[in-house]
Amino acid sequence: MTTTVDLEQETNPWQAQAARFDLAAHKLKLDEGLWKVLRSPSREIIVHIPVQMDDGHLEVFTGFRVQHSIARGPAKGGLRYAPDVNLDEVRALASWMTWKCAVVDIPFGGAKGGIICDPHKMSRGELERMTRRYTAELFEFIGPEKDVPAPDVNTDEQIMAWMMDTYSMHLRQTCTAVVTGKPVNIGGSRGRREATGRGVLMVCDQAIKKLRLNRDSTRVIIQGFGNVGSNAARLMAEAGYKVIGILEVGGGLYKKDGIDMEALWEFRQRNGSIHGFPGAESRDPDELLLADCDILIPAATENVITSQNADRVKCKILAEGANGPTTAAADDILSEKKVFVIPDILANAGGVTTSYFEWVQDRQGYFWKESEVNERLGDIMVAAFDHVVRYSETHGVNNRIAAYMLAIDRVAYTIRQRGIYA
Ligand code: GLU
Repeated sequence: MTTTVDLEQETNPWQAQAARFDLAAHKLKLDEGLWKVLRSPSREIIVHIPVQMDDGHLEVFTGFRVQHSIARGPAKGGLRYAPDVNLDEVRALASWMTWKCAVVDIPFGGAKGGIICDPHKMSRGELERMTRRYTAELFEFIGPEKDVPAPDVNTDEQIMAWMMDTYSMHLRQTCTAVVTGKPVNIGGSRGRREATGRGVLMVCDQAIKKLRLNRDSTRVIIQGFGNVGSNAARLMAEAGYKVIGILEVGGGLYKKDGIDMEALWEFRQRNGSIHGFPGAESRDPDELLLADCDILIPAATENVITSQNADRVKCKILAEGANGPTTAAADDILSEKKVFVIPDILANAGGVTTSYFEWVQDRQGYFWKESEVNERLGDIMVAAFDHVVRYSETHGVNNRIAAYMLAIDRVAYTIRQRGIYA
């Protein structure tokens, strides 16, 4: 009974965020007032949106937008569609965006949105109407200088296009910079689609350099094959890493010498799923998560590595492609095992960094080549990695707490400079 309650606490993303925040703020000796300011989100919006379903009946969906901080710039962060979205999760994800943008030092605060729905059971028309009504409800609260949404779990370029269009219709002028992650022909950035996966590759490159490993002998297991996992897998295989395992809900794939990623990618395009791919053995996903490898990349959702399995994880490097895949209780276990953790607010920051480039390009009305986008992304990811690792070494804390300390310090500094209004 107690264990169930504890695990519930442990896997509450808001608690997971708060535990790390408190520890980092304590180490920073953050003053009590700023502690209070940064511990809670600055604005939480809840909307109940009516949507006409295809069969004619009306459904009401609950949606959230949480703006955690606008100290360093407009709030920034994705929008997710899932049946288990809840306010605590969106709150945590919003604050992670604040810390993430500060770690990579881009001029944004943090926000997140979510709608409780099952997008896989909805038609395209239903999704469009729900997205448009949600955007309309938030019209006053979002905008290029206020809060800039982007894709997250189960949302994509098409959804961003509908959001941009709805916002523009209300404004009575086209405004592309209101959301990022749009299709390239309507204000999207080249390289944005692959950016989170590419950022994961970039930080893994830095980590293996530090641990004196080579790409071609580095075995990688990836959990999740959505936007982040599939792009990370493809780019890492292309760069010479041995991607030996991919696991998803309902099944996993394993091949000792490395899975042919191009073949798997094509198989998934044709069949809509990775299951049944003939080029690898099928494996139990829970077993694969704990299999021997050099780099483990959780790239799906929260709470994958917990106090229940952290002691059995066998990787040397944990690169968090997802937001919040590791609970706070698991942090200590991983530290003891000397796993080199590249925390989510650093490892998956390639997405929002390229969103920043998209926002800049939209405001300039001038679009960059993909090579230019990737090069600038590399500069930012490498600098942020070095900064976090150096901070961790000088302050004697693990990489996650170092990243939080760095981020909190930057945000707190700005708040002190701006001062508190009235
Ligand atoms: N949803 C992504 C994240 O969690 C991207 C956010 C953005 O591009 O604003 O970082």
